Amino acid sequence: MQTENSLHPEGVEPRGALCVECLVSLAAPGERVLDRTGAALCRACAADFYAPCEACGGLVPRDEALERPDSGALNCFECFGKAAAPDGSEALTDEEVAALVAEYVALHEELKRLEGRAVEVKEQLKRAATVRPRVSNAVVLRADSGSVRCSYTSKAAYDAEKLSAAEALLGAESFSALFERKVTFSAVRNRLEEFLSSEDDATAAARDAVRAAESRTEVATLTVVAQRKKKSS
Ligand SMILES: [Zn+2]
Ligand SMILES: [Zn+2]
Repeated sequence: MQTENSLHPEGVEPRGALCVECLVSLAAPGERVLDRTGAALCRACAADFYAPCEACGGLVPRDEALERPDSGALNCFECFGKAAAPDGSEALTDEEVAALVAEYVALHEELKRLEGRAVEVKEQLKRAATVRPRVSNAVVLRADSGSVRCSYTSKAAYDAEKLSAAEALLGAESFSALFERKVTFSAVRNRLEEFLSSEDDATAAARDAVRAAESRTEVATLTVVAQRKKKSS
């Protein structure tokens, strides 16, 4: 069975003299195209319903082709599973992945415990520092194995409305020498998606402008899934 799924489409044996999609007879060899498993297709069906796998070049039905999340390239099932990770490392076997998952879950538990304890200790040390004298705005707490510095910084925040009184008094130019104005935008997700997928000609240019302004990055987030207790039977 596997041998039929050859990754070299030019080497596969043709099966049948009818197009597997539209059943038109494929008498002349020039009319016939083979998909990656060797099934015969007419040129029209191949063009309409099939796409070449970007890895092995074999024709794959478009609705079965798998899109690589990194490049968007279309792959056949085999090439999708086989292809190396984006950073060039080898794809891991399911067993290797399972071992890493088990290790990560254990590390995650341990990290949670360590982090929790570190936070507790940090708070206690900060409290200890408040009643000790500061030198250069810092308190150093010592142990035989090392020391910890607790330093203090203050951050100022400005109320926009109250600050505008200062702007009125100073004038825009002097004010802008003292303060930078920051404007940020975050999308109203559902409404923006709706707007971008609309086909209204009146807003076509604005949609293009929004798309041009947007840059996206994908962030991978790993979450440990709480395991349901297995029932002992
Ligand atoms: Zn056909
Ligand atoms: Zn392929």
